[in-house]
Amino acid sequence: MGKLYVIGIGPGGLSHMTIRAMDAIKESDIVVGYNKYIDMIKPLLASKEIFSTGMKGEEERCKKALELSHDKIVSVVSTGDSGIYGMAGLILQLRVDEEVEVIPGVTASSAAASVLGAPLMHDNCNISLSDLMTPYELIQNRVSLAAEGDFVISLYNPKSKGRPNYLRDCVNIIKMHRDGTTPIAVVKNALREGQEVSISTLDTFDENIADMLSIVIIGNSQSYVKDGKFITPRGYKV
Ligand code: SAH
Repeated sequence: MGKLYVIGIGPGGLSHMTIRAMDAIKESDIVVGYNKYIDMIKPLLASKEIFSTGMKGEEERCKKALELSHDKIVSVVSTGDSGIYGMAGLILQLRVDEEVEVIPGVTASSAAASVLGAPLMHDNCNISLSDLMTPYELIQNRVSLAAEGDFVISLYNPKSKGRPNYLRDCVNIIKMHRDGTTPIAVVKNALREGQEVSISTLDTFDENIADMLSIVIIGNSQSYVKDGKFITPRGYKV
């Protein structure tokens, strides 16, 4: 009997992977994933069969993984959490009768937040600026409503060559509802090699430092920076 694990490997460094994720990979005969993610967990894969494809091969990878799981133990790996812009949804949509277990991981917003301080302490939301799966008008509408609702906002997939202006547009939308002094941070490669951090304000923000390896976190109306730490207070009287 085979089985399919859908695993979030965390932000990249092996020390931030859960023990459950690591055990499931060790137990697997075959590991399936995007080339770059496979590279991140190379030390765990010495004796494994590997099926990896490039960026846009998601559907092919998921179908193959389901098929292989009929008689092998297979892991499909995503970075961060596999259920947050990862492979868990597509696998479950395509699944017929295969046994599937979803194993969570530390998502990019949590990883980046830990590097910055405590920006996600109050109500917060994730919005992806990628328009590959979601029309840009809907993305802009969600950004606007999240800003109006005073959510702390984490922007995944903030910038790519094909859509150089979305991040600037979205920050301008947020500025319609937030003070110009509101903290905004870019964390590139959170908790993995090449980590870079930049904290500024909505007024001084330079969108050019963000790329596809970065996440952008915008504070709510109460967020502030103290001794270099980005904090969103939660109402404790201090
Ligand atoms: N499933 C992943 C998200 C995949 S979408 C998760 O839960 O984290 C890909 C986007 O995630 C990237 O464009 C970037 O915005 C963000 N991301 C993933 N890992 C990151 C990291 N270590 N540091 C900063 N951003 C990261």
